[in-house]
Amino acid sequence: MTEFQRRSAILVMVLIFLVILFPVLTKPASAIRLTSQSVSGAPVGFQAQYPSTPASNVPLTVIAGKIGRQPVYTALVSYGVAPSEVLSLTRSFKGIFDFRNARPKDEYQICLTPQKKLQKLIYKTGLTNQYVAVRTDNGAFYTYRQEISLEKKTVARAFTIESSLYQAVTGQGETSHLVAAFTDIFSWDIDFYLFPRKGDTIRVLFEKYYIEGHFVKYGKILAAQYIGSSETFSAFYFDNGRQAGYYDENGVPLRKTFMRIPVKFGTRTSSFSPRRFHPISKKYKRHTGIDYGAPLGTPIHVTAGGIVEFAGWRGGYGKLVIVRHPNGFKTLYGHCSRLLVKKGTRVEQGQTIAKVGRTGQATGPHVHYETRINGKPVNPNSIKSARGKPLPFDQHVRFELMLQTRMQTMADHLFPESRQTAGKAIKLQGKKIVEWVD
Ligand SMILES: [Zn+2]
Repeated sequence: MTEFQRRSAILVMVLIFLVILFPVLTKPASAIRLTSQSVSGAPVGFQAQYPSTPASNVPLTVIAGKIGRQPVYTALVSYGVAPSEVLSLTRSFKGIFDFRNARPKDEYQICLTPQKKLQKLIYKTGLTNQYVAVRTDNGAFYTYRQEISLEKKTVARAFTIESSLYQAVTGQGETSHLVAAFTDIFSWDIDFYLFPRKGDTIRVLFEKYYIEGHFVKYGKILAAQYIGSSETFSAFYFDNGRQAGYYDENGVPLRKTFMRIPVKFGTRTSSFSPRRFHPISKKYKRHTGIDYGAPLGTPIHVTAGGIVEFAGWRGGYGKLVIVRHPNGFKTLYGHCSRLLVKKGTRVEQGQTIAKVGRTGQATGPHVHYETRINGKPVNPNSIKSARGKPLPFDQHVRFELMLQTRMQTMADHLFPESRQTAGKAIKLQGKKIVEWVD
């Protein structure tokens, strides 16, 4: 071999070497990683070489769920996460969160590599509270608690009743929670089983909470009106410093001694009447109360504060609760499925005392509600229930100011065209709100 041939051979070999190696040398490191991992399914050696890199290029599987009855450990292992990894995750949460305090309602979201290696865990214990674990470069988990801030918006809306209040509100994109909050406020004055009529309007000024633009829950109802054909009811939320509640436009609390009905939702199936044909005994019999049909297990609320006089089985009433109130009043709740109070229990107005059932002489699940004065049954609807005392003078100025502001906010929302004539949107006659100038 001549000197020239030898040199040429070396040059060719160098060139070949360079050609082979060139693409490897110029490729970005991450691309190499991605290729080798996706091709080989990550051999052990590879994992040893890159022990803890967050696998940002690896397709991750995201799994979300509710914890339910099973421990967090079981849930994670069921997705293929190695028990040792779950243990190191649990350990990394030390001092931040103890998974033994997990509750069935808690939600989680996990990110797994194709090799079932846990990359991230988000553990939600509430609407605004979650715990996060992220795998770091050194292979360990970085864990922290994260508070999620809620965004509050005040909204005013008007709904016109076509078939029902429920339909009017939910048909316009709000939920049954708003309906429930609204009917709660006026439950002292309006019998929502009977009163709502086609064409009646409700107006509500209320708070809505959002997380990243998504509606999550309602806040307080700040002002509400029920505009019927014959009557208008108004309610304003006011905190007098000691107690917060709803007041009418004159600063008189809406709360009364007796609630109108013992169940929130349901239908009146039978009224108070001196003579009624009984479907079971097939006889004409006095009906000394009002029946409200509601699904089995619906909470029964005691309509006024008092002391439980009887809780047990009594003939046709089935499981019965009798509550004694001041001034010779008693209320009875019959056909219950479960009793939640005992004789002698002191109960507060609105407290759940039993669940709707069909015990005793009952054709279907309902609560038989009866009121008695000095032992004599009276029509619950005829009870003149007293209101609390109006706001004292020194608080009235603050109340009036709040009322004006809320009414104006409501008007601005509902009738934006009247914004220019602010102040004229509400016509006030003395303290009474007469009408809106729409
Ligand atoms: Zn009855």
